[in-house]
Amino acid sequence: MTQNVPSKTLPFLPFVRSEIDEETIQGVADVLRSGWITTGPQNQQFEAELSAYCGGRPVRTFNSGTATMEIGLRIAGVGEGDEVITTPMTWVSTSNVIIETGATPVFADIDPVTRNIDLDLLEKAITPRTKAILPVYLSGLPVDMDRLYGIAREHGLRVIEDAAQAFGSSWRGQKIGAFGDIVSFSFHANKNVTSIEGGALVLNNEEEAVLAQKYRLQGITRTGFDGMDCDLLGGKYNLTDVAARVGLGQLKHVERFTEQRRELARAYFESFANGAAVRTGVQLPVQNFTDSNWHMFQIALPLERLSLTRAEFMGQMKERGIGTGVHYPALHLFTLYRGRGFHEGMFPHAEKYGASTVTLPLFTQMNQDDVTRVVQAVDEICAAHAI
Ligand SMILES: *Cc1c(COP(=O)(O)O)cnc(C)c1O
Repeated sequence: MTQNVPSKTLPFLPFVRSEIDEETIQGVADVLRSGWITTGPQNQQFEAELSAYCGGRPVRTFNSGTATMEIGLRIAGVGEGDEVITTPMTWVSTSNVIIETGATPVFADIDPVTRNIDLDLLEKAITPRTKAILPVYLSGLPVDMDRLYGIAREHGLRVIEDAAQAFGSSWRGQKIGAFGDIVSFSFHANKNVTSIEGGALVLNNEEEAVLAQKYRLQGITRTGFDGMDCDLLGGKYNLTDVAARVGLGQLKHVERFTEQRRELARAYFESFANGAAVRTGVQLPVQNFTDSNWHMFQIALPLERLSLTRAEFMGQMKERGIGTGVHYPALHLFTLYRGRGFHEGMFPHAEKYGASTVTLPLFTQMNQDDVTRVVQAVDEICAAHAI
């Protein structure tokens, strides 16, 4: 049916759109009427449910998945003079927070197949100053977690997992967040589970949880009716109860969200199979339907075999009513990082992927026809511009 309709008449298909149910919308209205709209009972419940999801580990909510990483690093004792190893293929906040603590970000290139940090290169980047590792699970695909924690143990390093994209993902049947060292999640609007903006930090023990609470709100500890002390420099990172209520409403659906995303990813692989795009050399992600939560579906364009730029490709997709994104440009080539001595040629796999990747639409309210429509558009554009 859709194939006979000119694409101009089809509704615009964005690359991401969150699914908020009516019960959640009603719940938000109830919070607004309740008389307590900032951090309160909804956050307590959100933390309790997240903790249950993470195998009973202590969890604290924050107002972003950037704040969680920065506080995670501080709790791990990262600061001035330390090095933290991470990937150049991530949202820039992953590395910015390392600088924020006074430590130095050290990058290891990606594995071009998984697009995640290459653990061999990570191990080679360890120096006597290395304090922690900050791995990222791009699109929700974990790294080899056994190997990661093996390296950390062997070298006595802390791990702060940037699992911003990996809520709902797992490793050998265990949820990401249910094991490991410090784990950071984001609930930004584009993530699989959202609280509009927000994040959560999974911690090892109550001591770390108390520290997280202090860092979250000005280093304050309250006692009794009127007691208050401030014994460390904290910030302003607490989550509102309105946001926590949205998060609670989303949490109910996490298994369905993950399942639907896996089905859509499967549909992408089936539609792409042996089509013009793949024949031209378009690279697809790793086919993983057990661990990944399929936060995104990213292709890499074979630009050397196409007579158009990535921007032109994205423009042609838009003309067909299809939204796309870029996740991400290699971050060491941003001005801030060039100013710190980074340049082209240092991390060739991240640079190549960062210059050629395109994120295709993937969200729970899509159906198989939408996937077919996207792949048809990619195939047509590749066929028309193959050189
Ligand atoms: C979204 C994201 C973050 C930051 O999360 P915010 O909640 O937007 O601060 C960090 N790292 C990665 C990989 C992300 O995708």
